[in-house]
Amino acid sequence: MSFNIAIDGPAGAGKSTIARKLAEKISFIYVDTGAMYRAMAYYFLTHQIDAGDEAALRAACDEIRIELVYENGVQKVILNGRDISGEIRKEEVGNMASATSGYPFVREKLLSLQQDLAARNDVIMDGRDIGTCVLPEAQLKVYLTAGVSTRAKRRYKELLEKGVPCDLREIGKDIEERDYRDMHREIAPLKAAEDARFLDSSEMDIDQVVDAIYQLAVEAGLS
Ligand code: C5P
Repeated sequence: MSFNIAIDGPAGAGKSTIARKLAEKISFIYVDTGAMYRAMAYYFLTHQIDAGDEAALRAACDEIRIELVYENGVQKVILNGRDISGEIRKEEVGNMASATSGYPFVREKLLSLQQDLAARNDVIMDGRDIGTCVLPEAQLKVYLTAGVSTRAKRRYKELLEKGVPCDLREIGKDIEERDYRDMHREIAPLKAAEDARFLDSSEMDIDQVVDAIYQLAVEAGLS
């Protein structure tokens, strides 16, 4: 049986950086489910479909094929045969992902893909509903969070390092809006699973969080 680690939490809590590092340390596959929602959003944006146009979004879902492939342990997101891993990192795509991820037909499309990966591999999967909906039987569930200002500063730094012009206040506002939408949607809202271990990374650096989750995984039976 595969060993599954679910990490949920709000935007900018450091989930993907931490999950990627831990996956490398314990030779697990890292599955970034946010990237899948972003890939869908990227399709909607590039086809000029409005986030409120439910019929058009639903019809577009039939045209979308998403695959995750791994090259030297690095996840690549393939949309209809094209690698769009770089394009989906833009804030605009993240906001569109948040605006469209509440539709049940968008979530259904990705659920079996996510569950199938976890059934066949030892995975660390991060997202918003992994412990609650996607992998309720995961051996370890972590809810990773940090204060809004810490998260905004981290994302700001990350974007500046990539050479993307941005505004700290704008990012803070986006994060708050995104948290609100993700936590208050009807289907699969962001919340901690009842048996999730709660970690606040505001005062911790990346390696400390990786170590903390590693210890929790060992306690949960990782050998
Ligand atoms: O984690 P990331 O910022 O890449 O996610 C983008 C958006 O995708 C989130 O704001 C959320 O609305 C959606 N998402 C989701 N469920 C997941 C992962 C991401 O609804 N498991």
